[in-house]
Amino acid sequence: MVKAIVGANWGDEGKGKITDMCAAESDIVVRFQGGSNAGHTIINDKGKFALHQLPSGVFHEDTLNIIANGVALNIEYLMKEIDIIKSAGIKFKLLISERAQVLLPHHVLLDEYEEERLGDKKFGSTKSGIAPFFADKYSKVGIQLWELYHKERLKERLKGMYEKINVQFKYLYNKPEIDYNEVYETLCGYAEIIKDNVADTAKILRDAVKEGKNILLEGQLGALKDTDHGIYPYVTSSSTLAGFAAVGAGIPPYAIENVTVITKAYSSAVGEGPFVSEVFGDEADQLRKKGGDSGEFGATTGRPRRVGWFDAVATRYGCEVQGATEVVMTCLDVLSYLDEIKVCTGYEFDGKEYKDFLTTENLYNAKPVYTTLEGWKTDIRGIESFDRLPQKAKEYVEFVENEIGVKISMVSNGPRRDEVLVR
Ligand code: GDP
Repeated sequence: MVKAIVGANWGDEGKGKITDMCAAESDIVVRFQGGSNAGHTIINDKGKFALHQLPSGVFHEDTLNIIANGVALNIEYLMKEIDIIKSAGIKFKLLISERAQVLLPHHVLLDEYEEERLGDKKFGSTKSGIAPFFADKYSKVGIQLWELYHKERLKERLKGMYEKINVQFKYLYNKPEIDYNEVYETLCGYAEIIKDNVADTAKILRDAVKEGKNILLEGQLGALKDTDHGIYPYVTSSSTLAGFAAVGAGIPPYAIENVTVITKAYSSAVGEGPFVSEVFGDEADQLRKKGGDSGEFGATTGRPRRVGWFDAVATRYGCEVQGATEVVMTCLDVLSYLDEIKVCTGYEFDGKEYKDFLTTENLYNAKPVYTTLEGWKTDIRGIESFDRLPQKAKEYVEFVENEIGVKISMVSNGPRRDEVLVR
């Protein structure tokens, strides 16, 4: 069975924890998009880990982990991540697609220089080089991993690439030029280190599909950060949708039978862009402090996350574009302190109430329409079955389920792997 675990919202929905949990029953866990620009937080018996590029299956010794062709491969960061996991005594199997493209030093620099140049109009980039990376990939000047093993060709391509980039660095940004020979040497060093991990992973995955293996496709960020369907241009540069997993991993689209979409019991987002149900001031500070497992701060960037009430309009849309077959709601425990809980059930815009998600500028002008529910005002961590939750907590979940139109199959009431209530 092939299952995708993806986000309904702006990312940080708690996909890592659910993936880690499902990874126990998976033969293969695959990262199919994104790069080192976001991360999952995983808490298990081995400790607390922030994974950025490594698939969440690394905590299960028998699981094969694949970084597929759709990922922006930052080899330097990957090696650091591998070291951290290995030094915690964890053994794992990892393969990297020979068709994955390699993130290069100028991608990170371009991200930085461009945000500097844009000033107030910046996108809130994580400055991991992701947007310049995908620009190069789709203008066909990027480097696929297999090219690292064709040295002469690699040198020629880098030479050509940096001729153009250096003009941009010098004249547009007024920054030092890059010596392509240095990049070449670095890449040759990396090639040697990772050579045993490089494989035709798409072929391995297609065979695994045919053999009926359990494959988990692990998404990064969420539907509202998708390049096409998200809050463009405040989106990421690769598709965050389950449908893209077929391309990003190289498997048939019809193979993906289960699309498990993760959403939080409230909203959180990092970076710029419209956020209709956002809250501010003390209300936000309180929610931010209670949120996640130790407050709402980005796993990769450490940036304080923007927070708000659950947005049923955005989440229903997120579930639809993901093609959700089931939904998991995380962080229900976080709302336990509230007397009343609001849910955004409509957008008021131009004198009308909308139930559908809008394009970016209209979202900026939309006001949230809230339905207020009663809180349960009691700590729900430690409760081990959905039925034992306070009535008001169950009603909250049922209300949201009704709004988004997809079954909520699991609710999570704490950051640990075992804190999940199956319905
Ligand atoms: P991801 O990118 O979707 O994997 O999300 P992150 O891991 O970055 O963010 C989710 C945060 O919520 C992490 O700090 C998790 O440890 C934490 N978390 C996940 N599920 C729960 C839950 O049910 N309750 C609480 N309190 N925290 C949770």
